[in-house]
Amino acid sequence: MDTIVIVGASAAGISAADTLRQRGFTGRITLLGSESHLPYDRPPLSKQLLSGLWEPGRLWLRSAQQLAELDLNLRLGTTATGLDPCRREIALAEGEPVAYDGLIIATGAAPRRLPGDDLAGVHHLRTLDDALALRRRMRPRSRMVVIGAGFIGAEAAAVARDIGHFDETCDLGVRHGDLSERKFVAVYGRDGRVVGAIGAGMPKQLREARRLIVEQAEFPAEART
Ligand SMILES: Cc1cc2nc3c(=O)[nH]c(=O)nc-3n(C[C@H](O)[C@H](O)[C@H](O)COP(=O)(O)OP(=O)(O)OC[C@H]3O[C@@H](n4cnc5c(N)ncnc54)[C@H](O)[C@@H]3O)c2cc1C
Repeated sequence: MDTIVIVGASAAGISAADTLRQRGFTGRITLLGSESHLPYDRPPLSKQLLSGLWEPGRLWLRSAQQLAELDLNLRLGTTATGLDPCRREIALAEGEPVAYDGLIIATGAAPRRLPGDDLAGVHHLRTLDDALALRRRMRPRSRMVVIGAGFIGAEAAAVARDIGHFDETCDLGVRHGDLSERKFVAVYGRDGRVVGAIGAGMPKQLREARRLIVEQAEFPAEART
């Protein structure tokens, strides 16, 4: 096998590349990643990064030297759009297809989308850019609704409360039932900007919240290799 292509340049993708080299694979490894950042650690996004304690430079999963030692053909900002197993090729959003002898798909998970979540003021929380954008928007006299009452949503709410930037922050512990993803069906806006979330039995302050994070993994298994 001469060329192995790994799609997804995050924790699973970079670990796969590491393992291949450790086990003596000397062929070409091409690592494709949609994001423009070097592989980074996501757990701090909803904690140290969001709170401003850390800057992005602390998140990289491998140093420049470690990446160089792996001798990767690292193609960041490159999205795979299709797979042709007969021709053994990966189609890209831009540019020529990439040929492979072996393929590892490590594309992780993506947040579940809700109708209306493209309105201004709605933030997803999955990537470094998402977290930085949300951090920039956290300011006094804002209100925040978090959709997705799992760890990530709870952490984001805790950060918001800790930094005291919100007049009104939903308490996920108390309102867990209200925030169940089954009850949120859409978000709605005015003049292109979010003004609320639609859900059954939702209290008034949630219906009229001005900011929303939409966070829920679409797939129960995040690492699919
Ligand atoms: C905010 C946040 C906090 C978290 N906190 C914790 C925690 O405290 N503890 C814990 O254990 N886990 C935590 N997690 C989960 C953990 O980060 C994930 O389990 C881990 O990132 C999974 O790694 P992965 O490489 O499988 O997938 P991902 O990290 O999702 O990476 C997949 C990569 O593939 C890329 N990709 C997707 N499709 C394509 C394509 N078509 N072409 C090219 N590239 C593509 C994506 O851009 C992405 O960079 C957290 C996750 C988030 C988002």
